[in-house]
Amino acid sequence: MPCHWPADTDFALWELDVLDRDCPVCGRMMYVCDHRYRRVHTLEGPVELVCKLNHCPDPACAGHPKTKSPEEEVTIALPKWAIGWDVLCWIGHRRCSRHWSIPQIRGDLWDNYRISLSEDSIARYIRHYQHMLAARQEDEAALRQQYDGVNEIVLTIDGLQPEKGHETLYVVREVTQKRVWFAEPLISATADEVRRLIAKAKAWADALGKKVVLWLSDRQDAFVTGIAAEFPGTPHRYCANHFLRDVAKPVLEADSHAKVEMRQKVRGLRKIEQAVLKQQKAAVSPSVETPDVIAKAPVPLEATAASCVAAAESANTVAQPAAPTASASSVVLDYCTTVRGILNDDQGGPLQPPGLRMADALSEVRESLQRNLDEKKGASPKRSSTVWPAASTAVSTPSAPHKRSYEAT
Ligand SMILES: [Zn+2]
Repeated sequence: MPCHWPADTDFALWELDVLDRDCPVCGRMMYVCDHRYRRVHTLEGPVELVCKLNHCPDPACAGHPKTKSPEEEVTIALPKWAIGWDVLCWIGHRRCSRHWSIPQIRGDLWDNYRISLSEDSIARYIRHYQHMLAARQEDEAALRQQYDGVNEIVLTIDGLQPEKGHETLYVVREVTQKRVWFAEPLISATADEVRRLIAKAKAWADALGKKVVLWLSDRQDAFVTGIAAEFPGTPHRYCANHFLRDVAKPVLEADSHAKVEMRQKVRGLRKIEQAVLKQQKAAVSPSVETPDVIAKAPVPLEATAASCVAAAESANTVAQPAAPTASASSVVLDYCTTVRGILNDDQGGPLQPPGLRMADALSEVRESLQRNLDEKKGASPKRSSTVWPAASTAVSTPSAPHKRSYEAT
């Protein structure tokens, strides 16, 4: 990959020699026949590698046309890399262990090390790192070492979907050492495909010479049949979490029903947001029926946020929202975002039913809105239905279901 170095870059020169200079074919001493210059980023600064290339001096030797590179070169950077191993590890660790985004990695490399890499390059290096990580994870010698002294092992398999609509990642994990053995994405988890993974786990266990004393999984058919076929006689326990979920089914069903009802009642967020954004736009261009006095008058945040709710409580009546300032309308938008987050939150299991969490969260929002309303009663901004007819209907009408829903919770 081409890498552009500023003309005034101050490179550290590292000269590398071939250490074993015997011709691999005839055994004669090899000579330096050429030099290769490479520039790489390291965390200590830019480095220019001067690699002395050797070849056999005997033209008749089969080793003659081949050059040999210094052995140390690959310990500094692999071929075609513009970075050293230290930078690769730095990037990989930030990405895989700390979950930094690529732009964040890019910015930090520049800020702290003056290393300039494109996002494409960083993405490519991350892939290299992941391949090495996977290879290391599956390295037999390392695995053998870790399982030295372990007699019995417990395996689990489960599928997880990193994002909806994506293929499912099937992970085989060993519990006693808390170690992921391997993972494969399967587009369709047929019984045959899943069984192949279970057979692979068996091959691993056999290679280690360890006895699998237990399998753990949920009751997906492919797991049940695959494990029974590959591990006859080995106990297969179903996942306690799934078990609990099944036991708690009636509760979760009721909870799910309550969630649906809450979602049906708390609606119209989009319309509120659209109305606020429209008002924000109108506020930017003051020609639109916005009297200067009101546009410039500071409206307390609480009052405006509350006015949105006040409108909700008295839809189509005389109470009208004041003109939101930019910051005030952003409060309304924040409320909308919060409520949307609450409605979309599906986390929680049988011990923390998501519907209960939703009800609690919505109650908190309602209390927060009520505090705003109480605040407003102290210092109510002057409002007039004739000044803000468009705004009031736009904001109040879709908000109306809010009140009912809060009461419902
Ligand atoms: Zn030779």
